[in-house]
Amino acid sequence: MAPTSDPDSSLVPRGLPIETDAFGNEIVRFGSGRPLTLIAVRRDVPAYFVTSITPEGYLRVQNQGSSPSLLWDQFQIGRRVFVTTKDGRVLPGVVAAPNTHFRRGDDVPIPEATVDDIWVDVGAENDKQARAMGIENLCTVTQIDGYSGADVRRRERVIGPGAGILCGAQLAAEAERTLGQTKASWNRSVVFAWIAQGSAGGRGAETLAHTLHPDQAIVIAPYIPSPGDSAAYPDTAWGAAIVTTGSKSPSTLEWAEAVGSQLQAKSTNGRWDPVGAALDRAGVPTIQVQPIVRYVGTPGEMAVMAYNDQVGGTAGESLGDWLLSWLEALPSPPRLVARPNVKPFVPVSAMRAVTSWPPTAQTSESHQTTWRILAPLVHAQGISEHEEAVRDTVLRLLPASLRSVVDPHGNVIVRWGKGKPRRAFMAHMDEIGYRVTGVDRDGRLRTEKKGGFYDWLYEGETVRRGDGQLAVVAPRADYLVRPRPTIDSPLSDRHRVAPSGFKGLPDSLVRIDPGNLFADESKDWRGAQITVVKSLAHLGEDRVAGRSLDDRFGCTALILALRQLANERAPKDGCVLFAFTVEEETGLRGAEKLSDDLLAAGELPPLVHAVDTFVSSDTPLEDPRYAHALLGKGCVIRAVDTGSAAPKEAVEAVRRVAANHFIPLQFGVTSGGNDGQPFAARGSVNVPLGWPLRYSHTQVETADLRDLEALARLVTELARTRPGTE
Ligand SMILES: [Zn+2]
Repeated sequence: MAPTSDPDSSLVPRGLPIETDAFGNEIVRFGSGRPLTLIAVRRDVPAYFVTSITPEGYLRVQNQGSSPSLLWDQFQIGRRVFVTTKDGRVLPGVVAAPNTHFRRGDDVPIPEATVDDIWVDVGAENDKQARAMGIENLCTVTQIDGYSGADVRRRERVIGPGAGILCGAQLAAEAERTLGQTKASWNRSVVFAWIAQGSAGGRGAETLAHTLHPDQAIVIAPYIPSPGDSAAYPDTAWGAAIVTTGSKSPSTLEWAEAVGSQLQAKSTNGRWDPVGAALDRAGVPTIQVQPIVRYVGTPGEMAVMAYNDQVGGTAGESLGDWLLSWLEALPSPPRLVARPNVKPFVPVSAMRAVTSWPPTAQTSESHQTTWRILAPLVHAQGISEHEEAVRDTVLRLLPASLRSVVDPHGNVIVRWGKGKPRRAFMAHMDEIGYRVTGVDRDGRLRTEKKGGFYDWLYEGETVRRGDGQLAVVAPRADYLVRPRPTIDSPLSDRHRVAPSGFKGLPDSLVRIDPGNLFADESKDWRGAQITVVKSLAHLGEDRVAGRSLDDRFGCTALILALRQLANERAPKDGCVLFAFTVEEETGLRGAEKLSDDLLAAGELPPLVHAVDTFVSSDTPLEDPRYAHALLGKGCVIRAVDTGSAAPKEAVEAVRRVAANHFIPLQFGVTSGGNDGQPFAARGSVNVPLGWPLRYSHTQVETADLRDLEALARLVTELARTRPGTE
């Protein structure tokens, strides 16, 4: 699937005589003579074009054509994107989002972004680096890389941006393949067309109207309820085929009636697809045949390839069959090859995301060791209280020569050396996410939040539970409805008062949709832990982005340090304790229990270092007044945060160790609590350490591996240093 105006034939079936016209439309003709029926489907997804690159290396963009939904720009914020370079390579990028830690609670920015709020981060430190990566103006930014790898079969459900278009194209392809052996002498014409710039006002269709002069047209396009026709969740469920026409012209109505009665389709009012509208404007009688799509115009569009598969309908009526029936019902029908066998219903578990981010495997040569520890830790899913997968990964990555213990609370403890702990380091294993608390009658899931984050970052997003099954977070019910509130500088701190009647997406309305129709089908989701589909991407040479860098970076720093220390002579007059803790995001509970245990055993370390995120204002969306630690400039002492202030002398001691070993170190004030707090409350000195992180608690947390490696060296040197001798 190509972005608008960028030709790509991945959706067009191969092995057929394809003609490409000057506009970029791909067409295949069957038969000759009149009447000529055009069967049209879009072949592009909405894209943004790079319009400038800032001195800090961010890409600014402009969209082209109509957005797939009113909140489409909003759905880019904090999301993963694909950036196509001038030489055709596809790079991962992320769209900046405000740090959750800086504006929690009532102080939430109103989530109604426009294209003005889109800042694309490709890991470049400046515009020169971005250009060296092959990016220039007019390069495209999309949420989908291409469908060529997507193996979508009949009767399956697919989720991802543009899933409805993909379904339509697959159905057209299926009908077309079946027509493949038709004799050319057939005394009428059917022309299949994959329309270029279809998303941009159906422009390619306009061209075809003038070159082919079709007598009638069928447009296959995702079903979008018109504003008066309720919300994004069609009451048709996954039921009958839908035929819509948005025109009042008599020839169109006649054409619609003929098709509708011939084929028992459910006829309804729906929104015109841009391709349908363009053909209608050109005077071609046009109907739309519509795959049912939930949440159209969101990144988590959910489309179904078949109809009537669950609610008492026929066993295998699909839109593809429907098209074939129409062809067979024509006067002197074409000779069709055998209809494909109807496969048994593929359950919802077979839903697949059409997205595959990042688009490229890791390329950087300089951080291989770090990457090999960090990547498996990030890919493991561990919502607070469900840290098992992360714990198993930590245990696997720790050096075998050091003994690791899992304490009764689930924390992993490693002691380097003998005697009572003289110093301790802690990194947390858990991450934020949802937990399923109940099931609605329609099969959608109610949730509770684990940790603090903006629900709107998950709106319309594909999510997964621990075992990999996919679902979509339903967008707010009115996301397709005009008028929308007008808000200046939506993501800035300035204008935060919502217009009356504005609802946004309050916590209580968040529903997760595993693609079912009834409560019964969803019951095995109770208690499930849910987050986005996890991935880790290299952004440029040194940076990475992914969900849960907070605190898998911290875990990685501790593991790197332990791998180093494992080869050295361990201290005998007091050990260094390393803890990988649970339940930090939900209230520092793992660290609290650990500090209790150590205190009871007379082993409370005099000095502790929580190793966790330094939420940084090094982004275009934040004020540099505070938390301005820069990515790539070293690790950071979290001297002051929401929950702690380190004693000045202890901070100085850490600075001296870093300086003696030429470790780049920053220090500052940021927001958030840390695992050292319960220790400090019991009498330890707490000097939290971290690294600068952008876009905290989003799916695109971004940080620099050089800072992580500096942090690992600092942890190593501090472990070697007896407190008081710094
Ligand atoms: Zn954290």
